[in-house]
Amino acid sequence: MRSKIVAGNWKMNKNLAETEALLTELVAKLPDTQAEVMVAPTFISLHSAVKQLESSSIEVIAQNMHFAENGAYTGEISPDMLLDIEVDTVIIGHSERRAYFGETNEILNKKVVTALYKNMRVVFCFGEKMEDRKADNHFKVVESQLKNALFSLEASAWSNIVLAYEPVWAIGTGETASPEQAQEMHAFIRKTIAQAYDTAIADTVSILYGGSVKPANAEEIFSKPDVDGGLIGGASLVADDFVAIIKAI
Ligand code: PEP
Repeated sequence: MRSKIVAGNWKMNKNLAETEALLTELVAKLPDTQAEVMVAPTFISLHSAVKQLESSSIEVIAQNMHFAENGAYTGEISPDMLLDIEVDTVIIGHSERRAYFGETNEILNKKVVTALYKNMRVVFCFGEKMEDRKADNHFKVVESQLKNALFSLEASAWSNIVLAYEPVWAIGTGETASPEQAQEMHAFIRKTIAQAYDTAIADTVSILYGGSVKPANAEEIFSKPDVDGGLIGGASLVADDFVAIIKAI
């Protein structure tokens, strides 16, 4: 059985007090669910969020980390620093990291390898740009992102990987992939993994959809057989919206 997951990526939003307030509201409104619920506040708020959610089922995860264990990397955060505050899941490869911080598939591969070596769970993001889709290259782009960043991993590593297909053109734009487009790509991703590894891995990896998921469209997207949940940006910053999306799964 694949895990159902709803993860909120707060990006560079919410200071310490705002983080505490949003988490308080989320905890109060959290519905009964079989799904794993995760939130990714900024680094500054991670430790206090972990403490605040100690007795909650909501998991605090990180938005990023460096691939090195320590050293002269000004401004960076290491996996051990995350583990030290009991954060053991990390988002790697978000399109904003790729676009604004030059993170290539090779760099992302190093991050994934370090995270797995440290026994962390990885939410790995990837997806095509609009120009790729218009040129009918979206399957090729997604295949090469997976291949270059993940397909050197041992088969056993896949139990700690969650995939998040996030078409870049749908992130923060209000434009969403149709449920059919999401399903088509998720099925393709599973087929590609089955070819590179085997169907057992392809069938058990959770594949989240990300890109302008809102309360109004969540249920239809989540109803698709190969969509196992969502990575939610903007809508995760509003407790009622995030809760509605959790209910939709
Ligand atoms: C994201 O940042 O991963 C994302 C999907 O953002 P949004 O939901 O705002 O499109």
